[in-house]
Amino acid sequence: MDFEFKYTREQEEFAKEIRRFIAENVLKEPIMPADVTKLSPELFLKGREIERKLGAKGWFAPAYPKEYGGGGLDLDHCVVLAIEFAKIKEERRWPGIFGGASEISPIYTAGLMSQGTEEQQRKFLPKLLSGEWFGFQCFTEPEAGSDEASMKSTAVRDGDVYVIDGTKVFVGQMPAGLRPDYLYWPAVTDPKAPRHQNISAFFIPADLPGITYIPLNLIAAEGSKWEVTCEGVRCPADCLIGELNKGWLVTQGTLAAEHGGGGALVPRGRRVLKVIDYCKKTLRNGKRISSDPMVRDLLIQLYIEYHVGRLWGLRNFAMAEGQIPRVRYTGTQTSLHNKRFSPVFGKALMDILGPACLIDDPELQILAGEAENEVRLADVTHIGGTPEVQQIMMSRAMGLGRSATRPAAATS
Ligand SMILES: Cc1cc2nc3c(=O)[nH]c(=O)nc-3n(C[C@H](O)[C@H](O)[C@H](O)COP(=O)(O)OP(=O)(O)OC[C@H]3O[C@@H](n4cnc5c(N)ncnc54)[C@H](O)[C@@H]3O)c2cc1C
Repeated sequence: MDFEFKYTREQEEFAKEIRRFIAENVLKEPIMPADVTKLSPELFLKGREIERKLGAKGWFAPAYPKEYGGGGLDLDHCVVLAIEFAKIKEERRWPGIFGGASEISPIYTAGLMSQGTEEQQRKFLPKLLSGEWFGFQCFTEPEAGSDEASMKSTAVRDGDVYVIDGTKVFVGQMPAGLRPDYLYWPAVTDPKAPRHQNISAFFIPADLPGITYIPLNLIAAEGSKWEVTCEGVRCPADCLIGELNKGWLVTQGTLAAEHGGGGALVPRGRRVLKVIDYCKKTLRNGKRISSDPMVRDLLIQLYIEYHVGRLWGLRNFAMAEGQIPRVRYTGTQTSLHNKRFSPVFGKALMDILGPACLIDDPELQILAGEAENEVRLADVTHIGGTPEVQQIMMSRAMGLGRSATRPAAATS
């Protein structure tokens, strides 16, 4: 199978339309700080404004049906959107959290799409897929990080509301001072039921009384991560997603998408190609950087790993589209690969380019700050589950680990 994409004439025409949109709406200069923690509220809001414009064109969630707020576009057009917007994100010209077009919607909506009722989908999807709403995905708890099923948050039915109590950490991605529109929040609804059958998922309106937000400044989150606490929050009962006590399935749908089950048309680590080019063209002590055998060795390793991830992303995409038969472990396999690749890439950049790739100076910075940006992202391996947990999930999907119903050792 030939995995390479080359635009057809029709795709080239569509790419031109996208580039016109970008020229009119996206900034020409690198605008995202190379140090992603320095995302300002103004930039974040600029990104939200563009996302809503994308939503109006059906480009925020291009593959989703139009009646739910998506673009109803076919694969040929989605590919072009993904590629054109990836370039903008890479060049730090995308003033927002997400890469734009298609990157975000599957992660936040996969559980709702697969487990939600028609009524729930009609209520929530248009707001999510048009970019109108921005939410926090609230999985991680202080006492249940990797072991998500051990969550302590509760939701108790009281008339036409659920009363929600609990704390989530490391959630969201938004500069301090701003607020999301909703919280995607799984909670225990049947404390007596067995593990995995005791949880329900909710979209909680983020401004309800009883919710407190504390910003957490991590080393490499874009803007702040947050600790969010619900104390006696009275959430309308129709904010339930999927069936009562079937929240684990909603959660799994969402995480499967986050772990790469949907595939990636544009791979992680495209900057490897730019770094190779830079090393071939740039002189150090009178010689090309790439003439150093150590550099060559590192570059070729990066090149191989980049292509492994690229091909796996495309393979997963082909599987999700039904073009080739699906295998269960492939999403986590790709996620594991990307999580292992990030620190390797970051360290290789430091070894090859030295501390200059952390210099925030227009004259001295390397690749217009892209090297700095990459090094700073190198340690972000916890999102959506740590590498160890991806490895466990992959083994279990291959029948090598404990069964799905047996609890993790730490909680038994
Ligand atoms: C930048 C960033 C963004 C994030 N975004 C979100 C978000 O939007 N929403 C959200 O809900 N959460 C988010 N998180 C939280 C993230 O999902 C958790 O950090 C992650 O799941 C791990 O949980 P923990 O930090 O509690 O670590 P723990 O679960 O306490 O793990 C600590 C260490 O033990 C290892 N470990 C745990 N269990 C096992 C096991 N059974 N076998 C082997 N090793 C094990 C882990 O791999 C890890 O190295 C984010 C985190 C970061 C850093």
